[in-house]
Amino acid sequence: MASLLSCGTALAQNASNPNIVFVFPDQFRNCSMEFWNDAAYADKVRWKADPAITPRLREFAGQSVVLSNAVSNCPISSPYRGIFLTGMYPERSGIQSNCMSLRPTCSLAPDAECISDVLHANGYECAYIGKFHAQFPTPNNPQKAGTYVEERWPAWDAYTEPHQRHGFDWWYSYGTFDEHFNPHYWDNDGRRTDPHEFSVKHEVDKAIEFLQGRDDKTRPFFLCLGMNPPHSPYSNEGDCNACDLDLYRNKSLKELYVRENADTTMEKAPSMRYYLANVTAVDREFGRLMDYLREAALDENTIVVFTSDHGETMCSHGVQDPKNSIWTEAFNVPFIIRYPRVLEHRTDDMLLSTIDIMPTLLSLAGLADKVPATAEGRDLAPALRGEKPSGVDCALYIRNLNGEPDPDGMIRKYFPQARGIKTERYTFEVSIKRDGSLAGMKLFDDWSDPYQLHSLKRSSNKALYRSMLAKLRDKLRESNDVWYRESILDKIAASL
Ligand code: CA
Repeated sequence: MASLLSCGTALAQNASNPNIVFVFPDQFRNCSMEFWNDAAYADKVRWKADPAITPRLREFAGQSVVLSNAVSNCPISSPYRGIFLTGMYPERSGIQSNCMSLRPTCSLAPDAECISDVLHANGYECAYIGKFHAQFPTPNNPQKAGTYVEERWPAWDAYTEPHQRHGFDWWYSYGTFDEHFNPHYWDNDGRRTDPHEFSVKHEVDKAIEFLQGRDDKTRPFFLCLGMNPPHSPYSNEGDCNACDLDLYRNKSLKELYVRENADTTMEKAPSMRYYLANVTAVDREFGRLMDYLREAALDENTIVVFTSDHGETMCSHGVQDPKNSIWTEAFNVPFIIRYPRVLEHRTDDMLLSTIDIMPTLLSLAGLADKVPATAEGRDLAPALRGEKPSGVDCALYIRNLNGEPDPDGMIRKYFPQARGIKTERYTFEVSIKRDGSLAGMKLFDDWSDPYQLHSLKRSSNKALYRSMLAKLRDKLRESNDVWYRESILDKIAASL
């Protein structure tokens, strides 16, 4: 009888736990959403939105809490996924750089307690669809034993075995692969599908298939959808749908680029057209998923997040790397969260970063007491509900590069090239050379200089620099970062 009672209680609790839908297209920058130019939002940011056509995200934003200052602590694919899934910074998540076959130490920590592990243990059905890119590729190809899933070397794509899925019991995913019209996926049982259609559309179809096919509709679900577009390739018509490209085809570079820091003489400049075409495709397919949730009467008791793993510099500052930098185009991400009756629509500039997602979502789901002790971020659910300020005065930025390779060519160590912080007003970065000495510092006043055109001079801003160095040091100590443990920042500060 006791077990029946406890089982009944668990069911009752589960019935009230909200579902969670977490949609994160890859490399989708925050300024590529049209609503930021609307009167209701334009005074919440100091920059202009790209000329993106995103009507479904406008509609969604109008029902959600919209964050203007959400950032990706380590803005590249795999480290983001490590932080999001484990709630730990890269040194503990296991993922310090992008996962590929020359980086054997770079893989989701097998013993990490992921957000999906927690949700699964608390009755959720957990589905992962799309790009996972959190696994060291090994020769575990289910279609051809003893081989990698791709012939290219080094291998980047990967098959994630059932024991590596951290509570995701509905699997339709791949490691990383960049052909938007020729994607592939492995399912629960390792069967491979090559659907030969646009990946974003296919993935939303699969998401709907998952939602329709659930055996126990009283069980809450966690649906994680990692789309690859608007990530590259974005160099020609073959990288996007013609109907989406038609919206941008005839726009001049001057019309496509509204940011004052963009260098439209770069060879990459025409890419904006194809990038925005895929932004629109993501918008449409995201809208289709929202339509399904409404038709299935799932929209009321479901938390929906729309975000991205990092942004895209797209010719800003003349840099080639679309990500892995503190430039706001790469570091700032969309973060829009809808939860009817709990979160009231507003725009907020709280500094939510990747590390806070796990504790915040678990708390919103009624599982605040289940947040693993290993989680390093903060529960910002009360701040999202508007009950109190977030209490976060800065967010940490991390950039790691390859360390020296071993004699066998393998990379097992990472060079922690830069650390920085974003505060409500400033963006600050310190970078080092391989010998640990100072390479440079950048400090931007994002209020007076939102396009980050002029780094503030240290000679005329000594107190501000001191204050930023102190905040960065606090953040590094709090996160037990290698820059703190090895006194990297202290030595630099002492040398100034
Ligand atoms: Ca990425």
